[in-house]
Amino acid sequence: MTLVRDASGRLHIETPLMAESLMDKSLLARTVTDEVFRPLPNLNVIKLGGQSIIDRGRAALLPILDEIVPLRGQNELLLVTGGGTRSRHAYAIALDLGMPTGVLAKLGDSISEQNALMVSILLAPRGGVKIGHDDVVKLPSYMALGVIPVMHAMPPYGLWEEPAESGRIPPHRTDAGAFLTAEVVGAKRCILVKDERGLFTADPKKDPNAEFIPEIEVNELLRRDLNDLPVERTMLTALARASTVREVFIVNGLEPGNVARVLAGENPGTRIYRAG
Ligand code: ADP
Ligand code: MG
Repeated sequence: MTLVRDASGRLHIETPLMAESLMDKSLLARTVTDEVFRPLPNLNVIKLGGQSIIDRGRAALLPILDEIVPLRGQNELLLVTGGGTRSRHAYAIALDLGMPTGVLAKLGDSISEQNALMVSILLAPRGGVKIGHDDVVKLPSYMALGVIPVMHAMPPYGLWEEPAESGRIPPHRTDAGAFLTAEVVGAKRCILVKDERGLFTADPKKDPNAEFIPEIEVNELLRRDLNDLPVERTMLTALARASTVREVFIVNGLEPGNVARVLAGENPGTRIYRAG
């Protein structure tokens, strides 16, 4: 690399991005590549829903953990945790107090971390280890050691969370965080463990006529613009633009065997996939 001084007197290091604003559209398009490096192509990122699983306590959480532990022998697993009801309570107070989105995101972060702490403690006798965001780069070592890493799923935007399209609820919460974790390590898939069969045309808890959708392409789902969803919209846009992960499953964790079925290549719930 050589140093070059341009006519205006600015000093540059000679690289393909020299003197660029990094905003030029054709330059951005040139950074697309067929092959993004995938450090953990066999990893399954499994999110345990905060509201749908963890908040239900031992009746829901212990059986799903018992189901997941033996799967570790044949599969690479990372468990991540949602925040659930306590996040909603904290958001409600913060909204009432006029807090900005970034503060709500910080609150959500620490609450999903509380759940990661409890899940990792429950798994401690069977190899559970609580990890933080900085430890994601150590996942290959954790896999080699046969441990089950447990991390909070809230992505680390924190105070820098971008404003939502509407209102003040942080747009990137734990579904988006689980997916983005999977994407950066080039994981095989992301599995969201919730308390309904999967995706419906409306919230099945509110609309008895809601129709089940077993499989859908993510751009098609975004186009449908459903009024309510079991996953964050930002997770769907992230999947639509992703370079590595091609599929996200939503499964019912209250029914035994569903996580194992996904790992065995079946679809016991909803598969949201990326065609492009
Ligand atoms: P988590 O515990 O993983 O954070 P949420 O409670 O945030 O999960 O989201 C899952 C819930 O979303 C489901 O239990 C369901 O009641 C609701 N929901 C809303 N819209 C839909 C839909 N279109 N299809 C399925 N579930 C939906
Ligand atoms: Mg949720």
